[in-house]
Amino acid sequence: RAKEAGKNSYRFYLAEMNETVIQKLVMEEWLNKALEYEEFVLYYQPQVDIFTNRMNGMEALLRWNHPRLGLIPPGEFIPLAEETGLIIPIGEWVLRTACKQNKAWQDAGHPPLKMAVNISPIQFHRSEFVNVVLDALDESGLAPEYLELEITEGIAMYHVDQVIHKLQTLRNLGVQISMDDFGTGYSSLTYLKRFPIHKLKIAQQFVRDITVDPDDAAIVQAIMAMAHSLKLNVIAEGVETEEQLAFLLDIRCKEIQGYIYSKPIPAQEFMKLLERMPA
Ligand code: C2E
Ligand code: MG
Ligand code: MG
Ligand code: MG
Repeated sequence: RAKEAGKNSYRFYLAEMNETVIQKLVMEEWLNKALEYEEFVLYYQPQVDIFTNRMNGMEALLRWNHPRLGLIPPGEFIPLAEETGLIIPIGEWVLRTACKQNKAWQDAGHPPLKMAVNISPIQFHRSEFVNVVLDALDESGLAPEYLELEITEGIAMYHVDQVIHKLQTLRNLGVQISMDDFGTGYSSLTYLKRFPIHKLKIAQQFVRDITVDPDDAAIVQAIMAMAHSLKLNVIAEGVETEEQLAFLLDIRCKEIQGYIYSKPIPAQEFMKLLERMPA
């Protein structure tokens, strides 16, 4: 009996593995064409100052609109894009599109806001990266202070001195830098001190249970205290409830991003938000 079951699960495993390998190959093939077929789209999510109730900026979040599979979230294709190197052209497209969109909103007369763009460590480590950013700014005409690059702690795994130098170059150009998903990655506090960044994004995983789990509450308060000492701005991600909002107000975390204000939405819809926003 046990032998039979073992055999069956072995066969099942093989079949499943084949399917996964084939699926991955097919996905890679499709992903390869996605730029050319203009299947990528950016959604935008507001970043809000909770003391004034005003929008400070927005984050550009990539989606893949596949003709057969529908709208695919980034978690399902970014890892493959990173593995295959496709993240390089895709990431460039994201930067250029986000800069152009932000400039277009400014040109339409909306108060200027910061556009945050996620940068994969693979993109950041390339020697051309600073030039890619400069080109996106040039081509769009967006002023550098309205572009914010979201890096992750994973960036600190290699070539730390080069990373710091590159961050400094970008900062000198006037571009803003934030550390995404802060507290979930590898970076040590030593790096944090040496990294010339402007802002920490408190990871959603700490915000989720902030009102019920004293450990998460303590972690967020510690991040706030540290950010204050290091003179870094802070934004809390993934805020969904009034209770979380009240807690964050209470510990003077001034900026948030989350479903409580808006989910990420397409440009057309985002424009309606901008039109409703007090000048
Ligand atoms: P992230 O940069 O940390 O982005 C925040 C994620 O949290 C987004 O998921 C957003 O939709 C989600 N979120 C925001 N507020 C809430 C909330 O209140 N509740 C919940 N449950 N979720 C919320 P999304 O859009 O699926 O993106 C996932 C990740 O994919 C991003 O995490 C980022 O790491 C990556 N990503 C997205 N766009 C790009 C891109 O253009 N380039 C690169 N390299 N990575 C990207
Ligand atoms: Mg992000
Ligand atoms: Mg992230
Ligand atoms: Mg994040």
